[in-house]
Amino acid sequence: MKKKYILSLILIFFLKLGISQNIALYNTTAVGDSIIKYKTEMKSVNLNSYTQDLVNFKTRYATASNHRQVAVYLLNKFKSFGYQNAYLDSFTYSSTWQYNVIATLQGTTTPDSMYILGAHYDSNSSSNATVTAPGADDNASGAAGVLEVARAYKAGGFKPKSTIVFVEFAAEDVGLLGSKHYVNDAKTSGLKIAMMVNFDMISNETSSSNWTMKIEKYTGSEKVTALTKYITNNYSSLTPLEDLEHITCSDSYSFNQGGYKAVQLMENTYSPYYHSANDIVSNTNSNYATEICRVACGMLTYRNTYPLNTSMNDIADNISFSVYPNPANSYFNFSINHEKAEETILHIYDINGSIVLSKNLGIISTLDQKVDLSNISKGFYFVKISTKNKSLIQKLIVK
Ligand SMILES: [Zn+2]
Repeated sequence: MKKKYILSLILIFFLKLGISQNIALYNTTAVGDSIIKYKTEMKSVNLNSYTQDLVNFKTRYATASNHRQVAVYLLNKFKSFGYQNAYLDSFTYSSTWQYNVIATLQGTTTPDSMYILGAHYDSNSSSNATVTAPGADDNASGAAGVLEVARAYKAGGFKPKSTIVFVEFAAEDVGLLGSKHYVNDAKTSGLKIAMMVNFDMISNETSSSNWTMKIEKYTGSEKVTALTKYITNNYSSLTPLEDLEHITCSDSYSFNQGGYKAVQLMENTYSPYYHSANDIVSNTNSNYATEICRVACGMLTYRNTYPLNTSMNDIADNISFSVYPNPANSYFNFSINHEKAEETILHIYDINGSIVLSKNLGIISTLDQKVDLSNISKGFYFVKISTKNKSLIQKLIVK
């Protein structure tokens, strides 16, 4: 009697939660697979190599004579990863043209909604265009991180729900100018920026373990801060530390001031080589920087992955299936209609996303079948029918 009563309470609890809550729980597992896929794709050896390339320019000061060459290097990197749409967005400063470098991964369902990953690529030492300013940590590390996230997504064939924009900002060290220019344009054009993640100084770490990352957080961006902590705790080796000290010092501040949600990810121990000739690659830690990049990548993946790695394009209008009775007891029937015969697989998932039943139905166009549920405990489930390119999901309640 007591057991039955408790079971009823659990069922009522789930019914009260509603199906959307269950979908949220369920999606977490599928999204987790996607986060792990792209975090694994990112390599510290690549970050190290891009950082060295940027340091090799000797200076990247905003008004240095080579500043267009630096922008073109970044542009060509994006293109080499497959971003043929990459371009230079120019503005003027102190009688010079400055160039933000922008690459876009188009969203598939809500392309108007944008997620931005940015970092500045200019460097500074003595505010003098002719003085050596390698800027390995500040901020070749962040600029390299943006490149590596962009490369990982192309390499893995990521198809985000919303558009992801990678921006390498110019002229940050002379007053956040690249990001101010970007935000002014965004506001004029009414761009819908859902979140901006900024890297600035992400590679100073001398210990080999127990790494901490600073989350420079903004009022009004509490959900972004919470997401940063969630991804850091669950998908990186870093310990997150919320901080306010540097919030006005980098490009994320321009987005915050423009009314957009933002966060800056940053090394916990401030580089002792800041704005000096010793800010060189051998004083940076690319493994640590890669972990910080994995947090940003995880955040973008979390917000842009479809349940079970399906996309709206995959949800077919030429398959239908029904599940009955539902709620079911010891069995349910389902019927499928395909436009053409295709190999079809049936999966039943529990609310944690674990498969509880899996069956290859063969190459079929229509099928009516009874599925035995006697080994499946009471609760909420999802029935998924998949073919090579398409899938459909329906909820199933087992009483
Ligand atoms: Zn910086």
